This record gives sequence, structure tokens and C-alpha cells, in this order.
Amino acid sequence: MEIRVRFAPSPTGPLHIGGARSALFNYLWAHHNKGKFIVRSEDTDLERSSRESEQNILEALRWLNIQWDEGIEAGGEYGPYRQTDRLDLYRDYTKKLFDSGHAYYCYCSEEELEQERQTLSAKGETPRYRGKCRHLTTEQRTVLEAEGRKPVVRFHVPEAQAIHVNDQVRGDVVFDSDGIGDYVIVKSDGIPTYNFAVVVDDVTMKITHVVRGEEHLSNTPRQVLIYQALGLPVPEFAHVSLILNTEGGKMSKRDGDTAVLDYKQKGYLPEAIVNFIAMLGWAPMGEEEFYTLDELTEVFTLDRVSKSPAVFDVQKLNYINSHYIKEAAPERLAELALPFVGEMGILPQGERSDQQQQWFIGFIEAISEKLSHMAEVKDFVHYFHGAVPMEPVGEALEVLKGEQVPGVLKLFGDKVQEIELLSETTVKVLLKQITKELKLGGKLVYMPIRVALTGQMHGPELYAIIPLLGRENVLKRLEVTEKRSLG
Ligand code: GLU
Repeated sequence: MEIRVRFAPSPTGPLHIGGARSALFNYLWAHHNKGKFIVRSEDTDLERSSRESEQNILEALRWLNIQWDEGIEAGGEYGPYRQTDRLDLYRDYTKKLFDSGHAYYCYCSEEELEQERQTLSAKGETPRYRGKCRHLTTEQRTVLEAEGRKPVVRFHVPEAQAIHVNDQVRGDVVFDSDGIGDYVIVKSDGIPTYNFAVVVDDVTMKITHVVRGEEHLSNTPRQVLIYQALGLPVPEFAHVSLILNTEGGKMSKRDGDTAVLDYKQKGYLPEAIVNFIAMLGWAPMGEEEFYTLDELTEVFTLDRVSKSPAVFDVQKLNYINSHYIKEAAPERLAELALPFVGEMGILPQGERSDQQQQWFIGFIEAISEKLSHMAEVKDFVHYFHGAVPMEPVGEALEVLKGEQVPGVLKLFGDKVQEIELLSETTVKVLLKQITKELKLGGKLVYMPIRVALTGQMHGPELYAIIPLLGRENVLKRLEVTEKRSLG
């Protein structure tokens, strides 16, 4: 049997990390089994759904390289793939449920329902709809409709039944049908509710495995009852645990930084996000932490999905991202860094001269080891660009007060002026010469030069900084430092 799984987001906001994880697990499970991955849209919340959100979701999936075989924009045999385009289908299935006696019209008003909830709560019972309208006669319905009441359609929940959800992650989870109450499957405006539409979609799209967030586990018995009423086999379920933040609170869709494309904007690499979210609630065998999408596809199985909550730790993400930054070609990193550097006005966003491009690549190479995401390039620009170093303070300022410093800086300046070409190799030689000629230990030479040029005690390698700054800026920075120490 072909494995068919789906990702069915409600397009009511951007794709967030939890949604991306569901999509990824479905993708991996499908492709691990040479099956199909479907993306469709649950857009029946007409007020909150938008095409803009749908586009955001699709764009984020594409950015992560989570491709789908069927669904929105991809097409396929079982479309359409937006629920609002499938209303006729839901009508057909509603009729089936009416015909088999599993559905009925309910005319209760909001006030009547509220009263029932309160009565049950007062008795210490679970508030639920107990089926008041189950057996209305045609005459009674005519009277109610004459009052202007618009009915909803409810599902007739069987009494005293144990509903088993055989979950691949959680095992056999049993629900008592008496706690459920007859739930609405079609609202008074004719739009189906989630629990009904999702079953119709899963049935008609021949879904074999439903892999989704744990928050849907409590909906599952309602869905199982509908399968049973239709006389259809129930798919396999796998409910993936919640993602908590490091404080143990629930990650919320409303937190800005949970949106996947925010990470794109900050210059994270998509392969790092994929690697990171794969480990949110799933673990491979062995110690290896770095997995590409293809490697994940190879090893992913549902039996290694964990029951316990996953923790979203941005430090871990940064660690994984820095690994992929080190692996990436400098040209690619330069492209990703461009918006941030461009924002600072030091490079044109469009065409760059060969010299500018060379400088830029050199800059990226010099710092890539230190980056956890590309937005951080901004913090390094001051080392490599411009005629004025940062103002030294504290210990750095003390470094410049050493008695050897004027001699070191003078000799360094002279050598920079004389040298034909500033490169990593020539700068290394030049610095060594100074220690030899002045008979000073390395630190007494390198540290004042570093502080004079950058205002800082730490930073990227001097032999990377000096050629990228270029002769002119090096000499100007030395001048600025000299003036500062005189003033
Ligand atoms: N629309 C639901 C959500 O976004 C998906 C539920 C499901 O996968 O069954 O959470």
C-alpha cells in the first residue's frame, strides 16, 4: 500500500516552527517510504483565513525545500485542495451521515446551549450537548424554522462507547464517548467544522497516516467516530509532542520569532532550520547531530518520535546554523549577507565591481567561523571597513599606553607604506619582521596594532583585517589613534 500523508494548515497566519515540523515529519515519512506528501489548506474559518497567509506558508515550505507531490499549486488527482473549494463534497458526506442516522439538525439557540452547559457544570458534569434535538419530528422542525431559526448539523455520538485511538507515538489512547456530546459538523452557514471536513479530506485523498501536533489528539475520537459511522477504515495516527520554550511554556504562534520566514530574514540557512526542527521531538540513532534533508529522509521513522515535549532552544539552533555556515561556499554566504551589509550603505545592493566583490568575499571568509546567523555580519563590518577605528576603552586603552607602542606603530606604519602588496602572507611576514627588528615578544607587537586599528582587544585575525582594510584605511586608522592618544 502506498503511504500517503498530508500537511493541512489553516492559513490564518504565517507558517510557524510547529507547523513546519509537522510538514517536515510528514514529508520525511512519505519519502522514506517512497510515498506521497500532500499539502492542502483548511481555510473554512472565512474571517481569519487569507491567501496571503497561504502564500506565506507555501513560501516557507519552499524555502525549507520541503516539496509536496500533490496539493495546492502542485495539483493532483484528489483536488481541489482548499476546503472552501470542496463544499459540495462535504454536502455529499453530510447526506451519507443523515441517511445512516448519524447526523441531525439542531435548532438550539446560543442561550439554550449556554444554559445546558451551566446546568451540567453545576452538577459537576462535563459540559456537553446531550442531544436535545436528536429526535425532532418534521412538524417540530417546521415550527422552529418558522421562528427564523437556522439549524446546525450535529453528529449523534453513541452512548457508553470506548473509542480507541491507536497512536504510533502514544500507543492505545482510549476516550469515553459519554464525555464528548453531540458535536457540530456543519455550521448554520453550511460550512463544515474542522473535525468533519478533515475526515472527508483524509478519506477522499486516501491518506494512510495522520501525523500532526499533539494539540489535535483530543479531536481524534470525534474523527474516529465519523470514520466508523461512514464504515471506513481509520488511518494510522501519530501525534507529535508540543514544542515548549526553554522556560517550559508553550511556544505560541503569536510569538513573532516562531515564524519560519523570520529566520530567513535573519539570515539563517534553510538546511540548518530543517536539521534543527527534525530534532524537535524526533531523534536519530547514534550521536550524529548534523543531517541534511536527504539523510533525514533515509533514517526517519515514526517509532523514533518522542512522547515527551520538545524544547525550542535558540542556542542549539545557532550552533547548528553555525555548522552549516562553515560548510557553505563564501559566495553563497555573501549573497545572504548582502541585505545586512547593504543596509549599512557600504556596498551597493545591485552591481558590484570586481574589487568590491573580492573585498566582500574576503570579508565573509574572514568572519564566517564566528557567525551564528548572517545578520551578525553587521557586527563585524567596523573591523574591515572605513577610516576610523572604534574608540578604545578600558583595557584596550591601557594597551596603547605601553612604552614600546609608539615605536611599534611607527615601524608598522612605515612598513605598510613601503610594502608592494598587502595580503595574508605578506602581512604575516611583516608582523614577524617587526617583532624581530624591535626584539619584542609577539603580544607586545600584535596587541597594540590590533587596538590601534580596531579599538578592540579581540576580533578576527589581524592578517585578515589588514589586507581588507587596505593601505589607505590602515594608515588613516593609525593617524586617528595617534591623534586620540595625544588629545
Ligand atoms: N488545520 C489544522 C492545524 O493547522 C491541521 C489539523 C490536522 O492536521 O488534522 O492545526
